[in-house]
Amino acid sequence: MPELPEVETVMNGLRQFLLGKKIVRAKLFTPKIRNIVPKKISKTVENHRVLGVYRRAKYMVFDMDDGHSIIVHLGMTGVFRTILPNQKKFEKDIHDHFLMQTEDGVEIVFRDPRRFGVLDVLKTEEVSRSKYLGHLGIEPLSREFTAKKLHADLARRSLPIKQAIMDQKIVVGVGNIYASEALFKSRIDPRRAANTLDESELTTLVKNIKSVLREAIKNGGSTLRDYRNIGGERGYFQMHFEVYDREGKPCPDCTCDWEKIGGIKRIVQGSRSTFYCETKQR
Ligand SMILES: [Zn+2]
Repeated sequence: MPELPEVETVMNGLRQFLLGKKIVRAKLFTPKIRNIVPKKISKTVENHRVLGVYRRAKYMVFDMDDGHSIIVHLGMTGVFRTILPNQKKFEKDIHDHFLMQTEDGVEIVFRDPRRFGVLDVLKTEEVSRSKYLGHLGIEPLSREFTAKKLHADLARRSLPIKQAIMDQKIVVGVGNIYASEALFKSRIDPRRAANTLDESELTTLVKNIKSVLREAIKNGGSTLRDYRNIGGERGYFQMHFEVYDREGKPCPDCTCDWEKIGGIKRIVQGSRSTFYCETKQR
């Protein structure tokens, strides 16, 4: 499943083709993916200019100059294909759901084999309080995501900190891998009740959440240079993980009593795997 860093990378790739450009042709091929795609979507974009391209959580939003916005979620397998004018023309297959062509002759195709994605039209002024974005917590890479804010938000929450930072109502886009990695870097036990962390621990955690995500975006930027096929099915960028999926192995720079604790532990929290070092994380 594409996670926040991958969506960010896809969006940056699309922005260069879409921002400020007029869409001269649009075609909807599939009336229903996860949602029923409004028929008016083609009319909404055709002959209109793209005024804004941005990401919120794992949604991408394209603001058009007529007061409407297109909102897209890649679901499990959604991708955007970009076909440049000098390339072989677009030939549709059953997994292609929506096509836009810009004034520069670039064809942008939304493709989603498993159809868990979302493609919808909203009034621009209603996007932020829509059913998609209305309930979402803070952006992890924004300045507003601070230890102080997180401390206040967690004050009455006794769920494990790992699940708390994966709760989209608290902070968006911290996927399962990034949560384990950020907690390891912060030396915080993922099982601890969220409201037992003090502000200095949360300062470290917030810093590490940001750095893990930034690192992934940086990675994505360098591995996904080819924007003709942006998005993907790998879910996470190829990254080096310190604890994730390393059950039983020594943790990085391990000085722990490996014999006694058996290396990195895997537990299940909220039906997701968590990986951590019992000795280093407290
Ligand atoms: Zn260890």
